Amino acid sequence: MPICRNVEALAGYVPGEQPKESGIIKLNTNENPYPPSPLVGEALRDFDYRKLRLYSDPVYVACRQRIAEINGCRPENVFVGNGSDEVLALFTRAFVETPDGTIGFFDPTYSLYSVLADIRDCQKRAIPLPDDFSWVAPPPDFEASAFLLTNPNAPTSVQYPHEEVRAFCRRFPGIVLIDEAYADFAETNCMDIATDSENTNTLVMRTLSKSFSLAGLRFGYCVGPERLIDALFKIKDSYNMDWFSQTLGLAALNDLPSMRANVQKIHATRSRITDALRQRGWKVLDSQTNFLFAAPPCDAKTLFEYLKANKIFVRYFPGPRTGKFLRITMGTDDQMDRFLAVLDSRE
Ligand code: PMP
Repeated sequence: MPICRNVEALAGYVPGEQPKESGIIKLNTNENPYPPSPLVGEALRDFDYRKLRLYSDPVYVACRQRIAEINGCRPENVFVGNGSDEVLALFTRAFVETPDGTIGFFDPTYSLYSVLADIRDCQKRAIPLPDDFSWVAPPPDFEASAFLLTNPNAPTSVQYPHEEVRAFCRRFPGIVLIDEAYADFAETNCMDIATDSENTNTLVMRTLSKSFSLAGLRFGYCVGPERLIDALFKIKDSYNMDWFSQTLGLAALNDLPSMRANVQKIHATRSRITDALRQRGWKVLDSQTNFLFAAPPCDAKTLFEYLKANKIFVRYFPGPRTGKFLRITMGTDDQMDRFLAVLDSRE
């Protein structure tokens, strides 16, 4: 049985480890340590299982209305996916031709982008970020079918300046997707670029996985010009959002205050742990996300393994650009105290 050449050669995306044993402090996949809105619990309790007899709404009208209301656009400007990873996969299918199309992205960034290009069997072009991982404008003659731009970036936690991003989107000849998975933890965001009536080439994507504490539900969306949204609708599975995702996702979107309260708690933890690590000699980048990207004053990989042996999971990305750093998701204060205690037990 033949397997496609590109699939045979593919190094698939490796998600952060989901431990099987109990007692692990999980700071490795940027999940939210606090529960989602109580409205999600109510919606789950009130869910009539007999409704599952019917196919779910293929165009999720209620969710799109609410998302449009939150972001100041029309439902026609909203697409929803089974997690934002599904939106990304559909994006590469709708806007990048194979084999000649090119996907651009920064390096380092969300490592799925390169895998998606390999799955599509198209070209890819990575633009290296400077050593401090701050914004660098792609060269004026840079051309690609599409550009995937995470802001704030992952795994670096760094936010790019709004005006630079806007200027890039305006001059880029292809389609841009600004992946704002972590934007609720940041001071600014780029949603206005997507909703600007002059905009024809930019989508802004969000997820309920991080700030809304719903990684296990699978709900992501993007906002942008109707022509681009229509293209995504044309190629999606008919029922890509099941009834649970639609019902519980909507409940979460109807309770922004509880999401914001959790974000506030994570901000407080983030600044406390930033200070605590800097006092211990770490280089900590200024984070606009729910995680820190930080270089310890010792070998990062050895420390990663020491933490793991002590039941604390963080993320380590080997390689010349990222290998000196650990990515540490902000947990509860108790979890972070334990993290610091384990660090101190080694020194
Ligand atoms: N974009 C970025 C930058 C991420 O870090 C993640 C989480 N791995 C995603 C998108 C995907 O999130 P989800 O599919 O859970 O919405």
